[in-house]
Amino acid sequence: MIDADQLALGMSIAGLLICLANLGYMHIQGYTDKTNNRLFLVMLYLLTINTVCGIVLPLTNTEKLTSDSIAFIHNLFRYIYFLTHTALSPLFFFYTASIIGRSLVENKTRAVLKAIPFFVTEILVIINPLTHFVYTIDDQMAFHRNWGEALIYAAAVFYFVMIIILILFSWKVLTKKKKTTLILCFFIVTVGVLIQLFIPWLRVEVLFEAIGFTGTMVSLENEDDRMNASVGVYNRAAFGVDLEAALQNYKKLYMLVIRITNLDAITRMLGRRRMIYAHLLVSNYLKTVVPRYSIYSTNPGAFVLLLYHKNEEETDEIAHNIDNKFREPWIVGESEVPLSVVLMRTELPEKVKTVGSALYMADAPLPPDLDKTILEDDDLQFLLRRADVERAISRGLTEHSFEVYYQPTYYADGTLHGAEALLRMHDNKLGDIYPDEFIPLTEQMGLIDAVDDFVLREVCRFIRSGIPQDKGMDVINVNLSMMQCMKKGFAEHINSIVEREGVEKSFINFEITESVAATDYKLLGNVVHDLKKEGFLFSLDDYGTGFSNMNAVFSMNFDIIKIDKSILWAAEKSETGAIILENSVRMLSQMGKKILVEGVETEEQLELLRKLGVDFVQGYLFSKPIPEKEFIERIF
Ligand code: C2E
Ligand code: CA
Ligand code: CA
Repeated sequence: MIDADQLALGMSIAGLLICLANLGYMHIQGYTDKTNNRLFLVMLYLLTINTVCGIVLPLTNTEKLTSDSIAFIHNLFRYIYFLTHTALSPLFFFYTASIIGRSLVENKTRAVLKAIPFFVTEILVIINPLTHFVYTIDDQMAFHRNWGEALIYAAAVFYFVMIIILILFSWKVLTKKKKTTLILCFFIVTVGVLIQLFIPWLRVEVLFEAIGFTGTMVSLENEDDRMNASVGVYNRAAFGVDLEAALQNYKKLYMLVIRITNLDAITRMLGRRRMIYAHLLVSNYLKTVVPRYSIYSTNPGAFVLLLYHKNEEETDEIAHNIDNKFREPWIVGESEVPLSVVLMRTELPEKVKTVGSALYMADAPLPPDLDKTILEDDDLQFLLRRADVERAISRGLTEHSFEVYYQPTYYADGTLHGAEALLRMHDNKLGDIYPDEFIPLTEQMGLIDAVDDFVLREVCRFIRSGIPQDKGMDVINVNLSMMQCMKKGFAEHINSIVEREGVEKSFINFEITESVAATDYKLLGNVVHDLKKEGFLFSLDDYGTGFSNMNAVFSMNFDIIKIDKSILWAAEKSETGAIILENSVRMLSQMGKKILVEGVETEEQLELLRKLGVDFVQGYLFSKPIPEKEFIERIF
């Protein structure tokens, strides 16, 4: 038969080895002063002490060795074992809470209430040498359990039940990994406790605990997949997980977003590698301002700080300190690098309720005309609006919020020539939204293809109705997004839509805006060429607003050049403006181009354009863009 003491000894040595290895890994990996890191480390140390007790106790078992000093050591380690082991289940509960993201100090009274069983049982153990409520060791060194021990078990059961409740209540916010790890660890520990309860001489409890904790350490306390390795702070994914938990569990916390606004210029100046180094400098600086576990690098040039347990003044001070730091240049290698920043400070969850909108602050393009470096409350309104509009766009296609309006275009003598299709959005929540606001966002969201396809189909349907032809119209103009034109297979795509709709191709005139920054003219030229060969017409939109490569632009052989409204309006305001308009028209006519001027609002403007010999006009003087039905009724 196996000797129970030898078995206990073996189990404890195994447990100790596991604990020591875990402690080693924890220290190599580096832990932070984040609550769960700290709690885990405390649990690990307590368990290590437990295993040491588990080794000393059988070795000093007085049935074999009798001497006063050995008896004293035995008693002492028994005492230490009880002191440390009693603390494990409550610690495991608070650890679970911290993993879930519950703040232990947010509601102090509740936290204290939950800790009462812990205090009571610990006190029982502490005073046991005097009271013997928990256990007695008699003169023969035999060990007897008393009612106090039952109470310790009851407390453990209480915390285990609390852990189950906690996990169940947080089921939705817990990541799969956290859930599985916590449940697995909980299961292993519980099995160990139960075996020990029913087969005490097997002594497996501590070993099972050590194994359970190992899994937890590898899975939850390992931060590798949460780290942005090159910058040494948490990454975007970690931000999402942590913020989700914080939003569920905190009534109030602050978020500070730090955006480097001259990232592109500085990257060009430094190169990518040294730019990463500059990020590292910034994150190292930030670690001196706030605990490192609250720093996230969500995208290049953006850092986010989650400030728990800080009030308005404190966060304000942090923001100002950081702002001041960025007023001085950073030393990267031999270069002095001026990093300009904008800081956005906001309160969660009051102002920002979702991870999505929080990431907005890190992602959204900043308005170019900001007059301050620390933005808060009303300054951030533009971001909230942007988030709202993006949501409206997402639901727009399914909820049929988009509608194509038409604005007529005329020959200079006033006879109807055609119409430009202009998109409108009517959202149930936000009301009417204009294309200047939603088109750029739709492009960034990658939905412009779907939206432009919708416009093209609507226009085809309108043409197929035969009404435009009956009204004497020659064309309908459709705006194309430059982003879309550059996509592979674009010409075929357009062709197939129009052919499927069975519409005369020469009735469709695509408008491409000139004001796009130097893109791939060759590719664009090919697209225009291919589609023109199919019979489509093309206009160059917004002429006079961009600084494009004129040669490249005119080699595309547009059917009509649309002079931008700003050129027309400037002509009325100043002599220079008038000269620009006059000469633009003259130059384009000499090149044999047909000219349309948009934005005609007054009779005087129309008169001027007629004198200059412009071919077509468009503007509010004739009609604003109007819905199809209204357009049909109004246009003769
Ligand atoms: P755009 O192509 O330059 O369109 C002309 C804009 O000037 C239209 O604004 C039109 O309503 C406005 N406009 C026309 N005449 C006058 C006038 O006499 N006075 C004034 N003050 N404004 C006038 P809208 O409809 O808000 O469109 C803005 C821009 O949105 C368009 O500029 C175009 O770039 C884009 N857009 C509109 N619809 C679509 C579309 O279906 N697809 C794409 N990709 N872009 C579109
Ligand atoms: Ca246009
Ligand atoms: Ca235009």
